[in-house]
Amino acid sequence: MTKTLAVNAGSSSLKWQMYEMPEEKVIAKGLIERIGLKDSISTVKYNNQEDKQILDIQDHKKAVNILLDDLKRLQIVSDIKEITGLGHRVVAGGEFFKESTIATPEVLKKIEELSSYAPLHNPAEALVMRVFEEVLPEATSVAVFDTAFHTSLPAKAYRYPMPNKYYEKYGVRKYGAHGTSHMYVSAEAAKLLGKPLEETKIITAHIGNGGSITAVEAGKSVDTSMGFTPLGGIMMGTRSGELDPSVLPYIIEHDSELENAQDAIDMLNKESGLLGVSGISSDMRDIISNKETNPNAQLAFDMYIDRVKKYIGQYLAVMNGADALVFTAGIGENSIPFRAAVLDGLDWFGIKVDPEKNILGATGDISLPDSRVKILVIPTDEELVIARDIERLK
Ligand code: AMP
Repeated sequence: MTKTLAVNAGSSSLKWQMYEMPEEKVIAKGLIERIGLKDSISTVKYNNQEDKQILDIQDHKKAVNILLDDLKRLQIVSDIKEITGLGHRVVAGGEFFKESTIATPEVLKKIEELSSYAPLHNPAEALVMRVFEEVLPEATSVAVFDTAFHTSLPAKAYRYPMPNKYYEKYGVRKYGAHGTSHMYVSAEAAKLLGKPLEETKIITAHIGNGGSITAVEAGKSVDTSMGFTPLGGIMMGTRSGELDPSVLPYIIEHDSELENAQDAIDMLNKESGLLGVSGISSDMRDIISNKETNPNAQLAFDMYIDRVKKYIGQYLAVMNGADALVFTAGIGENSIPFRAAVLDGLDWFGIKVDPEKNILGATGDISLPDSRVKILVIPTDEELVIARDIERLK
């Protein structure tokens, strides 16, 4: 029995989960939010208890130290050396990392070099890995890449129709994201379908604050909605998803608040999506509770649903049908109105939801018996995939 820590460092957050392996038992989990602000929040859940502290956590280095102190303070470990495995989610692995790998100094350097593909994430992730390495040099440290699952995309799906040099010289292509989640839920879906993964066609919809949809054929990602960066694809909480690139120079020229392309990209990443259209919130719950009275919230909801539906349609065409459509992540797992709206009007494709199964807390099959495509709700578990990868690579 060993203790393993799965770490998911975001641009201003650090999510973690501690396991006893190989039992895959979750001993504790936590989240440090608002890193860089004066009122950062660290929450630890363990033994049916919750510990919450408001602290001044200025950077990820301090966040790691707070986490390690908390583990001892709350007696989750008696010595941090009990942690023998560390796994880190890395957003951008480019074309170099096709699978999880031991985080050697060379791997860390490469992750930093790939920062231009995920400027908010990769530097924070590499920093967190280095801090852990200093404190726990004996532990096996593994990097798990969000992009790895999508390295199986065929060139026709990952290339953009631009002059070749942009791919060959600058690496401009579709890399996708949420790969760990799409891989996990598609494998779980095959189990629920009772079919070997190699014989399945599955559309996975990871719909949370960020969102992406993937076509998974024979267990391999063959197309995915996110693009060069996680800004592409469907509309999201604060991200626009795809739009005509000519919009960028036009708005920079006309809006004095935008000085350059980076300003415009920041606006598309942080002020757009549900938040931008509704003008009230990036949270789907707020959109749903306000849409009856607020036309902008209704429009935001309708646009969001429209984009998700279109990607489902695309991937039905890409794979010539599907055995299952999977909903996962915050919105996909929890929002009944979201799922109902997406599934409404897809019966022509053989997608038929059972309204009595599309209920709060639903997991597994929520489709009618005669639905040609099974509709599955599968809670994602990226941390478990990370913990399993640590075991595998130890
Ligand atoms: P994630 O990024 O997967 O953690 O998902 C976070 C998002 O899930 C939040 O921003 C909410 O919009 C959404 N969410 C969580 N629970 C619900 C719910 N019951 N109904 C609608 N949306 C939800």
